[in-house]
Amino acid sequence: MSPPLLELNAVSRTYTSGGEPLTVLKEVSLAIQSGEFVAIMGASGSGKSTLMNIIGCLDRPSSGRYSIRGVDVASLNGDALAALRRDTFGFIFQRYNLMSDLNAIENAEIPAVYRGMEKAQRVTHASDLLRELGLGDRLEHQPSQLSGGQQQRVSIARALMNGGPVILADEPTGALDSQGGKEVMAILEKLHGQGHTIIVVTHDSDISAYAHRLVRIADGRITSDELQRKGEAAHQTQTAEVEKVANQSAAVLAESLKMALRSLVHNRLRTLLTMLGIIIGVASVVALMAIGNGAKQDVVERIQAMGTDLLTIMRGPPAVRASANIVTSFLPEDLPSIGGVPGVAMAIPETNMSSLLRLGNQDLIVTAVGTGEHFPEVHDWPPQSGVFFSAEHVKRYSQVVVLGQTVVKNLFPQDMNPVGQYVLIGSAPFLVIGVLSSKGLDQRGNDMDNSVWLPYTTAGARIFGQRFFNDIVVRVKPGADMDVVQDGLHTLLMKRHGKEDFNIRNMATTIETADETQNTLTYLLAAIAVISLVVGGIGVMNIMLVSVTERTREIGIRMAIGARSFDVLFQFLTEAVMVCFIGGLAGIVAGLGGGLATSAIAGWRVIFTVAPIAIAFACAFLTGIVFGYLPARKAAQLDPIEALARE
Ligand code: ADP
Ligand code: MG
Repeated sequence: MSPPLLELNAVSRTYTSGGEPLTVLKEVSLAIQSGEFVAIMGASGSGKSTLMNIIGCLDRPSSGRYSIRGVDVASLNGDALAALRRDTFGFIFQRYNLMSDLNAIENAEIPAVYRGMEKAQRVTHASDLLRELGLGDRLEHQPSQLSGGQQQRVSIARALMNGGPVILADEPTGALDSQGGKEVMAILEKLHGQGHTIIVVTHDSDISAYAHRLVRIADGRITSDELQRKGEAAHQTQTAEVEKVANQSAAVLAESLKMALRSLVHNRLRTLLTMLGIIIGVASVVALMAIGNGAKQDVVERIQAMGTDLLTIMRGPPAVRASANIVTSFLPEDLPSIGGVPGVAMAIPETNMSSLLRLGNQDLIVTAVGTGEHFPEVHDWPPQSGVFFSAEHVKRYSQVVVLGQTVVKNLFPQDMNPVGQYVLIGSAPFLVIGVLSSKGLDQRGNDMDNSVWLPYTTAGARIFGQRFFNDIVVRVKPGADMDVVQDGLHTLLMKRHGKEDFNIRNMATTIETADETQNTLTYLLAAIAVISLVVGGIGVMNIMLVSVTERTREIGIRMAIGARSFDVLFQFLTEAVMVCFIGGLAGIVAGLGGGLATSAIAGWRVIFTVAPIAIAFACAFLTGIVFGYLPARKAAQLDPIEALARE
């Protein structure tokens, strides 16, 4: 003979939660065959629900053995128990336990979601069941729009959704009036007639009268167990096996997305505030990186504007900047030999000093540059009007000067041609012979057009009072190898000066250095942005924990009707990821907008690149997973019984 459908063997249940251990079920033994209609009767507190929860695999015995079709439930893992709740048992609760924000169809179809049934099939099946139960005109009503009896019928439809060969009803009529109660019992009777095994818990003898077998329980022990009516007990179990659909994860995913969206929309303000952290984080990554990139590009271009084939020989040994000022060995005599180094096209001295420039009664602080006649070629910086001074001017210590654009703008009236005028530098008069074109800012952000250029001879003698130079700038011949030229210069100067009192900067390294400085800044900005993302993530976690606490009962219901821990975990994780996903998208939009606004208002250059946007978005997504995991796991690990008991 095949084993009974359900068999309890000396099952006890002891609650240890509240201090004193409390044994609520005491060595209960009970066998139920397929197709029976059993009523379990007893006073309130006698242990009926506890027994029912064990039968329905929501709870496990503390001792004794419970087997289903001969299989000991103690040997089953969480997923196998969830599968039993989903496919074998159909729960009907005293207080219906419907989801208040889902309509009748959506409530009824939940067990099929966890089974992996396709949406269309699910809706059809749920509607059919609801129609059979007389709810054809209430399919899209929410629980709050239904009477108690109607709600209970929705919950019956839900219990039948996956076939429900064993219906477990814990005081199903307890919250209904007598008419509603009769209707529900009539339905159970009909289901029994169709082959379902029915187990009803009640303390009402009118209700127990429907059953064919009556089990009485008092103080955790079975006191009687008798057949009330005979003949009808051994029905063939109809196995209304609903077709198993392979694509379970897709259905659960789609449903999780829908539920997540629903919950987010339901708590709009809270969702928005939670997202704000993510939005600010992503937006700051996007905007700050764009601003950082723009600034970097600016600097690089300014350096490139000075000419990339330049070598600058500076006073002072490498890496000992403080001693630069006592080096006085850069002298005009060095120039011809530097010019003779292979690969050198031109070499000019450059000594910059702040000086007072005067025209009439107007003063202006400018940078006076003492240099050579090749300055315009070395720096690709041609005069706009007049001429640059010549080798002749240099040789003769001529008192001539070439002005920068800013100097002209600040000192000369608009209609006056500066060329041909005299200006005073210090106390010496100089004839203006030319005006250079505009160059803009240098890499440190100084206005290069606020300068005047003088022959280094004149400048040294009349203004600076020094014969030596600060720098010598060398332009390398096209095609020459910078490193070779640099080595040549190094060897030459070592020979001439007898010690390394100079250091040679080449533009490529200058760009690299500037690049690095800017990168450091950019990384700093990125770090700040990442910190705000993390803070946003903590906000998400916080809200998700609140959400789990708020929805504990919902989780309990879902588990009772077949959700695996994984399904619950997945649902909450989906919600967290969705918050971060939407927040990430909004953050990108805000970051683009913020970057563009900065560029429009402050006039800064912004350069958007794909990488920071993609990284920020990926970080937001990861934040959702990382910070959503803990709350989701908390939800998934809830004990269904405790969750169900929660108000
Ligand atoms: P019934 O459904 O017959 O009214 P229950 O099975 O719900 O009775 O409860 C039986 C006894 O177990 C009651 O005294 C109740 O207080 C106790 N009980 C139920 N659940 C718990 C629990 N989680 N922790 C401690 N005691 C519990
Ligand atoms: Mg009870």
